Amino acid sequence: MTATKYLLEESQMPRSWYNIQADLPVPLPAVLHPGTMKAIGPDDLAPLFPMDLIAQEVSTSREIEIPEPVRDIYRLWRPAPLYRAHRLEKALGTPAKIFYKYEGVSPAGSHKPNTAVAQAFYNAQAGVKRLTTETGAGQWGTSLAFAGSLFGLEVLIFQVRVSYDQKPYRRAVMETYGARCLPSPSNETVYGRSVLAEKPEHPGSLGIAISEAVELAAQRDDTKYALGSVLNHVLMHQTIIGLEAMQQMEMADAWPDVVVGCTGGGSNFAGIAFPFIGQALRGGQRSRIVAVEPAACPSLTRGRYSYDFGDTGRMTPLVKMHTLGSSFTPPPFHAGGLRYHGMAPLVSHLKELGQIEASAYTQSECFEAGVLFSRTEGIVPAPEANHAVKGAIEEAMRCKREGKSETILFNLCGHGHFDMAAYQRYFAGDLKDERYDESELAMALAGLPTVPA
Ligand SMILES: *Cc1c(COP(=O)(O)O)cnc(C)c1O
Repeated sequence: MTATKYLLEESQMPRSWYNIQADLPVPLPAVLHPGTMKAIGPDDLAPLFPMDLIAQEVSTSREIEIPEPVRDIYRLWRPAPLYRAHRLEKALGTPAKIFYKYEGVSPAGSHKPNTAVAQAFYNAQAGVKRLTTETGAGQWGTSLAFAGSLFGLEVLIFQVRVSYDQKPYRRAVMETYGARCLPSPSNETVYGRSVLAEKPEHPGSLGIAISEAVELAAQRDDTKYALGSVLNHVLMHQTIIGLEAMQQMEMADAWPDVVVGCTGGGSNFAGIAFPFIGQALRGGQRSRIVAVEPAACPSLTRGRYSYDFGDTGRMTPLVKMHTLGSSFTPPPFHAGGLRYHGMAPLVSHLKELGQIEASAYTQSECFEAGVLFSRTEGIVPAPEANHAVKGAIEEAMRCKREGKSETILFNLCGHGHFDMAAYQRYFAGDLKDERYDESELAMALAGLPTVPA
């Protein structure tokens, strides 16, 4: 009988994050200034981020040491467990072996504190007093509020208006950690007021909330901005997931033929996948790497690889990424963490280099997978994580058809305890699979900024 759960000792927790920029066969395209369209340097980012994080953003060192105060907080929940999904395998009747890394054991219930704690640490060390950020469903806001409270930082969170109104418990958690939460668009920024002037009942979007948080951070010296995904340093902080998983797969005497993760901005996917991709780039064993995204917001499978803004107000630098266009508003669906128009530049670049595959599924297919997972493995996944579960089940069913006993590893990036209203709607049969509007996508893509060659 093989074990179900693989646990590492605290002393086996990785001492460094893995920076995939060290192993890229082709470096990332430059980041451009939104005004001049010229490549930006570290100083251009200094109003928004502390220098240590800017240095990590552009670093090509393979390993970056995790500071001891960060490791000390990670120890509250790390190393995180890895499980073999025996009961799910049995229910599927697949010869495949399915493993999952579980990140829902963190205080916020997702992978996001892996970077929130690191970002709060470097900001506190640089003398920053206040952080601004955006949040959709609230997972990132919760994580930064938690991290800020441990390092004595004030945290101001712009929460997308619909979520602010619909998810009062997430807001209560953020406030419990001491953060201040505002519905976005708000009256506190020039950009927010301009959006409200046009449409007083605007439901908000992540792109708008980012514009508001960036605007406030740029104004005050004691205030910086924190982003929960997309940026290189954020993805790097998440690699502790894959580094731990590698050790745990060895304990299980197994190695993944396929690694699966869901993609919103790309951070939990990068966290599980980059250490495996890096191994292949250095000439080692190669796994297939599969990104799973929502069919209603398909940046990797339907977006264009192009320079674009990270926000709707067009204030952020331009990065080359798979994008649906910064003016594209995804239709509503429950995996709020996956409703972003772009994709991390590193994930996009690796897709272009043929290192990763991508697939897209509707939310009802993903909830169906999540319910089967709950009833066999006992953990109720976050709606975002259901996409990874669906991707893993698809691979397992392929193995069944082909009679192959491959090993599948996926990242269960969070639990769904704050998302039970979405499950209720699924059971009541009112979960609609909204389609994005093709003409709106075409318009958003036509509006992409033109960048001199
Ligand atoms: C935020 C979030 C995501 C999406 O963000 P990524 O950067 O793509 O990981 C996915 N799952 C959960 C549980 C989240 O909280």
